[in-house]
Amino acid sequence: MSEATHSFKRLEQIVEPLLLWYQVNKRTLPWRENPSPYHVWVSEIMLQQTRVEAVKPYFERFVRELPDVRALAQCPEQRLLKLWEGLGYYSRVRNLQKCAQQLMLQYGGQLPADYELLKKLPGIGDYTAGAIASIAFDLPVPAVDGNVLRVLTRLLACADDITQSKTKEKFRTLLLEIEPHTYAGDFNQALMELGATVCLPNAAPQCLLCPIQSLCLAHEQNREINYPVKTPKKARRIEHRTLFLFSCEIDGKQYTLLHRRPKTGVLKNMWEFPAQETCCTPDEAFSEACKLSEQLGLFAIQVTPAAPAKHIFTHIEWHMTAWKVSAVGSDIDALSQNLPNDFLLVESQELAPDNPTSTVALPSAFKAYRQLF
Ligand code: SF4
Repeated sequence: MSEATHSFKRLEQIVEPLLLWYQVNKRTLPWRENPSPYHVWVSEIMLQQTRVEAVKPYFERFVRELPDVRALAQCPEQRLLKLWEGLGYYSRVRNLQKCAQQLMLQYGGQLPADYELLKKLPGIGDYTAGAIASIAFDLPVPAVDGNVLRVLTRLLACADDITQSKTKEKFRTLLLEIEPHTYAGDFNQALMELGATVCLPNAAPQCLLCPIQSLCLAHEQNREINYPVKTPKKARRIEHRTLFLFSCEIDGKQYTLLHRRPKTGVLKNMWEFPAQETCCTPDEAFSEACKLSEQLGLFAIQVTPAAPAKHIFTHIEWHMTAWKVSAVGSDIDALSQNLPNDFLLVESQELAPDNPTSTVALPSAFKAYRQLF
C-alpha cells in the first residue's frame, strides 16, 4: 500500500470521532452564534495572527457598527482604522474594505458560495476561502491553518516541513478526499479546535483528552513533540527610532502632535508620534525637538527623556527611545491651518486609551507612550 493510501485510510477514520467530540467540546464564540458568511469572513480575517480572546471584543464592536458588506464598503477609512486599532496588521482591514467594495460591485453585496471565486477576492487566500466555504456554506472543502497542520503531522508522524507550501497543499489534497459532504464546516472547525485546545503548539499536547488518540502515530511512538517540523524563521531586522512626544499648551488646552506615516511600508498612512529613524543622542534629540517646534509655529520649553520601548512586527523590531517635549503656542486654528498636511495637532484626551469618542487611530506599536497622555 502506498504512503498516500496509508495516510488516507488513517485520515478517513478521524471524521466521526472528531465530529462527535466537537459537538460536546466546541467553545462558545461570538462569531459562532450566527455564522453568516459576513460574520465568518470578518472573524477569520481578525483571527489571522491574533488570539481568540483578543479578537472577541473587536469582532462584537465591528459587526455591531458595520453589520453588513454594504456598511463595511462605505465606512470612512479613519473610522475603519479606529475600529481595528490595537489589532495590528492593518493591511487586513484595508483588504477587508477593498473586498467589500468588490462584493458590492460584483456580487450584490454577498459573498459567493464558491471556493474558487472566494479565493479571487482581495485578502482571501486558500485558508480563508476554505473556512468561509465550509463554515458559512457547508461546502466540502478543507481549511488548512497552523492548528490543522500540527494535528495532521502528529497524527501521521509526518516530518514534512510545514513552512513549505507544498506541505500545505499535500494535506489539502488529502483532506479533500475525506471531507464529509454534510457538516464539512463542523469537521474543519473540529480539527482547528483540537489543535487550539488539545493538540497544543507550545506545550505538551493533552493526548489523554484527544478523541483521535488511538489513531495517532506520533502518540503511539511517544514522539508528539517532534512534530510539526518547521524551518526556523529568519531573525527580525532591528530598526532604531527616536520619538518626540509633544505636549503643547495652546489657548489653555493640552494638545499633542501626530505625524502621518508614508503611503508605503510598515503602518502605511497611519498616525504616529513624530520620529527620527535613528537613535538620537540627547543633544541631537534636543536640537531636533526645537527645530520641529519652530517649523510648526510652537516654542519648546523643555525636552526630557521617556522610557525606551520595543514593538515587534513580523519581520522587524522597532527599538524606540522617546523624548517628552513640553511646548507652548497660541491660536489653535491658525496653527492647525499652517501645519503641513502630514501633521496633526489633536487634543491630548483624544489619545486616552479608554476615550469612547476618540476618532484618531494610533497603532499599538505606540501603546507604551499613549499611556502618557
Ligand atoms: S494524540 Fe496527542 S499528538 Fe496525537 S493528535 Fe491527539 S493530542 Fe495531538
